[in-house]
Amino acid sequence: MKPKIHPKYYPNAQVICACGNTWTTGATVPVIHTDVCSACHPFFTGEQRIVDTAGQVDRFMRKLEKKERKIAEIKAQRKSLEEEQKAKRIAKRMGAA
Ligand SMILES: [Zn+2]
Repeated sequence: MKPKIHPKYYPNAQVICACGNTWTTGATVPVIHTDVCSACHPFFTGEQRIVDTAGQVDRFMRKLEKKERKIAEIKAQRKSLEEEQKAKRIAKRMGAA
């Protein structure tokens, strides 16, 4: 091994999962924190669960809600515009007759 180019190796680095599971491994950092591991990941547990530690599902739902509100707003605007035009047409027809 060439000296002074390799990071310090920890043969008993501690891995700590958010679910509470811990084990040791070899790594270049003494402690590793993880969000999921083989003991709690849905792939291994077989349960249907959304792994959402960063709040990404919430963010998506907020985005969807915002979009739906916008669409409803546009539809309402379009409807009021149509009614206005209809009223104008009727007024024009009444004036012509
Ligand atoms: Zn875990």
